[in-house]
Amino acid sequence: MSKLTLDDIDVRGKRVLIRVDFNVPLDTAADGSPTVADDTRIRAALPTIRHVLDNGGKAILISHLGRPGGQPTPDLSLTCVADHLGTLLDERVRFSSNTVGDTVEEVVAAMGNGSVILLENTRFDPGEKANDETFAQALAALADVYVNDAFGAAHRAHASTAGVAQFVDTAVMGRLMESEIEALTKVRDEPEHPMVAILGGAKVSDKLGTLRALINTADDLLIGGAMSYTFLKALGHEVGKSRVEDDRLDAAESLHEDADGRIHLPSDHVVAASPDADAESSVVEGDIADDRMGLDIGPATLDEYRELISGAATVVWNGPMGVFEVEQFANGTMDIAKSVAEATQHGAFSVVGGGDSVSALNRSGHTDQISHVSTGGGAMLTFLEGAPLPGIDALTDA
Ligand code: ADP
Ligand code: MG
Repeated sequence: MSKLTLDDIDVRGKRVLIRVDFNVPLDTAADGSPTVADDTRIRAALPTIRHVLDNGGKAILISHLGRPGGQPTPDLSLTCVADHLGTLLDERVRFSSNTVGDTVEEVVAAMGNGSVILLENTRFDPGEKANDETFAQALAALADVYVNDAFGAAHRAHASTAGVAQFVDTAVMGRLMESEIEALTKVRDEPEHPMVAILGGAKVSDKLGTLRALINTADDLLIGGAMSYTFLKALGHEVGKSRVEDDRLDAAESLHEDADGRIHLPSDHVVAASPDADAESSVVEGDIADDRMGLDIGPATLDEYRELISGAATVVWNGPMGVFEVEQFANGTMDIAKSVAEATQHGAFSVVGGGDSVSALNRSGHTDQISHVSTGGGAMLTFLEGAPLPGIDALTDA
């Protein structure tokens, strides 16, 4: 069902409560103060914020940051994000150390058209994750209209992503939300074939539902990362000390069977005794010795995967192929990034998502060559699985 967007509303003079996803990685500056380490998600929210400001609305921004566990946690304050946003917008961005309540309501009431304020971390209040009605109502009290632009948090039914929408007259999608849904709908519902899905990363259990959905639409499913060892063990291979989820062996085996040959698993591996930077590594084909663990896909696997990717019309990628954080186990992931970028240049439609996957993609230098880089990890997987996203469902029907 389609939802209202910014194009359906007039924001002039209105208090526009915008749920953004400013859950960004932080760093510590030389003077000890926190700074934004990667501002991809802040930049992604700019079109919506700009639209509201340029059309004379009052932008009231809310977001979570990290996991403060429902109580004020100075290290997870959004103060430094307000400063960073101010620089990007080249506007004064006010900050409120309260998220809801009389003081914020008064400050918001005094805002001029075209001005912007960021409120403190919604997860400082236990009502956020509990999707508590009182907290949702207190947020709604700040809004004439609510905009959800936080795709990365849309799979969570929290007060600021879902609950609040019940208590406002109009709840619409922001620009980022719109573009995420457009790109992901295309690959989920009407992909051009051949479609290649590349799935990797830490755990099969995080991605079982998505794998299930993808075996129905993708022509080839290329598996890498730690999750490949759960599949390989389930199929009777020796995987040594590789990371395996023993409680998912049956699920992996039945997925592999249902996929009818469309699931590809690594045939060779970069192995070592540990994932340490100075561990001695080697390439092995087939089984892995008892005292070794698989930490990256090997060159023969890369040849096979590269070939399949180069022939694809649609490519979806989530999850690194190895422990890419460590130089000697990063090659598989970097090579896949390059292959996906090349396929895109030859006309394929490509989507890459997932926190670690996007950080690996950025490191590869190929980000600009991808058709759509999703700001969602869990939200993208949930969407591709075809499961509901509470943050979208809660919005006003078009
Ligand atoms: P994303 O955030 O893109 O969804 P995940 O969080 O699922 O990706 O997985 C990323 C993590 O998986 C990385 O920290 C990486 O080191 C780890 N990983 C990948 N391959 C392996 C492996 N063979 N053994 C252990 N960890 C791995
Ligand atoms: Mg991750």
